[in-house]
Amino acid sequence: MTIALSDVKKIYQMGDTPVAALAGVTLTISAGEFTAIMGPSGSGKSTLMNILGCLDRPTSGSYVLDKQEVSSLTDDELALTRNKKIGFVFQNFNLLPRITALDNVALPLVYAGVEGKERKKRAAEALAAVGLENRMDHVPNELSGGQRQRVAIARALVNEPTIIMADEPTGALDTKSGNEVMDIFKKLNAAGRTIILVTHEPDIAAHAKRVIHVRDGLIVRDTERDE
Ligand code: ADP
Ligand code: ADP
Repeated sequence: MTIALSDVKKIYQMGDTPVAALAGVTLTISAGEFTAIMGPSGSGKSTLMNILGCLDRPTSGSYVLDKQEVSSLTDDELALTRNKKIGFVFQNFNLLPRITALDNVALPLVYAGVEGKERKKRAAEALAAVGLENRMDHVPNELSGGQRQRVAIARALVNEPTIIMADEPTGALDTKSGNEVMDIFKKLNAAGRTIILVTHEPDIAAHAKRVIHVRDGLIVRDTERDE
């Protein structure tokens, strides 16, 4: 599951003025990498994540995901690729407040057409993988912020994606919960999953093996940490 961007540009038209959110990004991320994307506000991080996550397409350039050119897919094909291959984690968890942790985690399986009993089994396994086997029947406001984010990670995992993309996953958490969430990402990465996260916190980025710095729509630094 290699990711390969080649001279990717994303141009937004602001009235008559084109704004290059990405100005020509070339980037390869191999299967099993743990990469953090850093950069100041407005540098293009979200745009890059949206393209990597198949939520949006480049204006020009090529994006090959797992040997498939995705920049020319239709919306439906893009959604299919996204749902099959990528799990998303957000800063504010995005859980449904009125249903239990188990039902939140099972939701992607409802859309995937998995039947009820199998759904519950797989959702329970995903919750166990993030250490929440004892919290399955709690609704989100009965859980701490860190626990809610772990539920969200379980939901991202339940379709068994090969890539997890997380946008500021620790942004709403205290340091201790944030580190617990990062420990889970490390564990998932050790089990072979590709992790890509956006953060502006150097302490959080330091958990990743590779840190990519974006500025003005370009990669300005790309460093690998020695193990
Ligand atoms: P970051 O996530 O690093 O804050 P973004 O990717 O959100 O950066 O934005 C990069 C640049 O593209 C900024 O100048 C932003 O104003 C612009 N931009 C992002 N999304 C849009 C949009 N939908 N329409 C117009 N300009 C946009
Ligand atoms: P979506 O709403 O799904 O993001 P868009 O309306 O942005 O789709 O784009 C539709 C198609 O046109 C896509 O294939 C996109 O890559 C392409 N496209 C969008 N903007 C431009 C542009 N400025 N120049 C060339 N192609 C573009």
